[in-house]
Amino acid sequence: MFPFTILVERIRKPKSKKFIVVFSLIMVLVLIIVGSVWAIAPPSSFGYVTVCHKAGTPSQETLILRARTANGHIQHGDPQAQCADPLPGTAGGVSIDQTKGYFVDEINDGVYWVTEGLYQVMFVVTSEGVIVADAPPSIGNKILEAIAEVTDKPITHVIYSHSHADHIAAASIYPPEATYIAHEETLAQLERDRPFPFGIFVGGGPVPLPTVTFSDNYTLNVGDKTLELEYRGVNHDRGNIYIYAPEQKVLMLIDVIFPGWIPFKELAVAEDAPGFYQVHDDILSFDFETLISGHMGHLGSREDVEIQQEYFLDIQANAAQALQTVDFFAIAQDVGFENSWLLFDTYLDAVGQECADLTLAKWQGQLGGADIWTFSHCSVVIESLRID
Ligand SMILES: [Zn+2]
Ligand SMILES: [Zn+2]
Repeated sequence: MFPFTILVERIRKPKSKKFIVVFSLIMVLVLIIVGSVWAIAPPSSFGYVTVCHKAGTPSQETLILRARTANGHIQHGDPQAQCADPLPGTAGGVSIDQTKGYFVDEINDGVYWVTEGLYQVMFVVTSEGVIVADAPPSIGNKILEAIAEVTDKPITHVIYSHSHADHIAAASIYPPEATYIAHEETLAQLERDRPFPFGIFVGGGPVPLPTVTFSDNYTLNVGDKTLELEYRGVNHDRGNIYIYAPEQKVLMLIDVIFPGWIPFKELAVAEDAPGFYQVHDDILSFDFETLISGHMGHLGSREDVEIQQEYFLDIQANAAQALQTVDFFAIAQDVGFENSWLLFDTYLDAVGQECADLTLAKWQGQLGGADIWTFSHCSVVIESLRID
């Protein structure tokens, strides 16, 4: 420690540039350390009141700093904020070998799946080569390692389940001479002009454009294996297809069913809410035993589809009930009519909250993330009931 006056004196000296540089670096370091400590253990006077501890052994204990209110909004400093619910057993996945960074397993007769715990890929080993479906950048080159682990046959066919970058933006890892197959809408989406490179968010880049497209059905025969590709209309995304291995009773449909969890926010960003409800019946019309649904570290079953369908039937019923019971004019009395957006925002939040409360009374703790995004699903369903 040296007195402040000496510091000022040294800074004043013209030949102390080196000192200023060193001093600045030290100050930056101090700021980083203070900032980190603040983020991990903010002083209560700053307004953070909720630091939750995830269930588990002390060594696995993870601090969750994100407090949430009942409707899932982040509100630092809100004494009413609650901690996220512990995840139910249904949410767990296969254990990933951390030295490899992925898990690969044969589902049935040459049909395999690969996951890194959050995303999923399917590949089929045929007598003539490998068919692979999707290329999430989060797994990237590990898909090639997983395939090489079980076969030395080349990749001859690539299928895109749909156009979303987080599922296909690593497709440039596949041989350019392979046949690329997708729905015609997926090709149209990929050909769109965009202000930023495709998949910039997930570190992706340009992907080979599909060379074979179809509108309704396409049968892919490669060597001794057959896949049936089918499109039944807009649900999660226009062009999102069923990839079905009838012999193996394996079905792949991405971003609709989330086994053990509720879907990602806003009906998993579904393009069409009625199409999203319908898709549950469509999935169950296939004769399958195993579902590759694109996310999380485990596979799905028919029961997972039925559970999610029941969850959304409840949300629809609860949204309809909330739209009939939440009193718009009582809220208007509080908020006034002058600021229309404030009035509607307050009203729709109240309807959403009523729907979420009714739904969580049954589903809280049953599916992973029910406490996080039920309000979000309610909000989308309410809008859909109001306008679709
Ligand atoms: Zn998607
Ligand atoms: Zn997804």
